[in-house]
Amino acid sequence: MFGPQRELFARLAEGQSPDALMITCSDSRIDANLITQTKPGELFILRNAGNIVPAWGSNGGEAATVEYALEVLGIKDIIVCGHTHCGAVGAMVAPESVTALPAVRAWLDHAEATRRIMRDSYGALEGQALVDTAVEENVLAQIENLRTHPAVMSRLMRGQLTLHAWVYDIEDGSVHAFSPDVGQFVPVAEAGHGEPEPAERLRRHKVC
Ligand SMILES: [Zn+2]
Repeated sequence: MFGPQRELFARLAEGQSPDALMITCSDSRIDANLITQTKPGELFILRNAGNIVPAWGSNGGEAATVEYALEVLGIKDIIVCGHTHCGAVGAMVAPESVTALPAVRAWLDHAEATRRIMRDSYGALEGQALVDTAVEENVLAQIENLRTHPAVMSRLMRGQLTLHAWVYDIEDGSVHAFSPDVGQFVPVAEAGHGEPEPAERLRRHKVC
């Protein structure tokens, strides 16, 4: 694989200037470069179980990655990309399934908002429909967590950053993005470039 791209890597050795930060799940079925049709050097990537961004104050690797992406690399787009059949999101809505996994259980506490939203607003859902909706709500909840990071909020205020909420469908390779215009996830090509606002999300709940 290296041979034909020797020139690219020689150029990348001089430094990186990625177009976007993509925050996605550790799930082995996700290939961030494949989904976005990008090459090495084009995407700054943060991965963990459940594509979670702990709210500001936890001082973990996620906050450091976000801060570096914005302050040093000057990234102007952050994508939070969840996916169908996400085991981490499944555990968010069924916490008893990870009782024997203390580290996982503690990590998922950062997605407590997702769990509560599902409990309080989607009580009638179950099975696959429950997880599918939780995947979407979790992406939106992590967008809200991103806003608590000073570097994010400061750039949003100046119009220098756009946040994107995506869900990748493992079965058919499609990507849906949250559209503030319709308050729903729609095929990414139709989603426009607006970012999800809290008010839009409330509108979406009314739609549901
Ligand atoms: Zn996952």
